[in-house]
Amino acid sequence: MTDQEIYADLVRGTTCACTAAKKPRMSFCRGCYGRLPGGVQQALYDRDGGYPDAYRRARTVLGMPIQPATRPDRSPTPVSLEPSTQTHK
Ligand SMILES: [Zn+2]
Repeated sequence: MTDQEIYADLVRGTTCACTAAKKPRMSFCRGCYGRLPGGVQQALYDRDGGYPDAYRRARTVLGMPIQPATRPDRSPTPVSLEPSTQTHK
């Protein structure tokens, strides 16, 4: 998802990432929004260009991470925010 797509979905989208209905100009449905930590909620109100990153972070927090946008100049690096997975034998 590009920044433009994220903004477009914010302004016009009526479906939350979880497939529930959301209102245009809202990032998420009320259920998802309520699950976000306060700091992440605040970041979604960033009007100085920080919104796309805040939105991506929120999606990751909600367990619905956005697939990295395909950039021709560099291969997308998968970001793992999960705690280090250790194999127990
Ligand atoms: Zn939702």
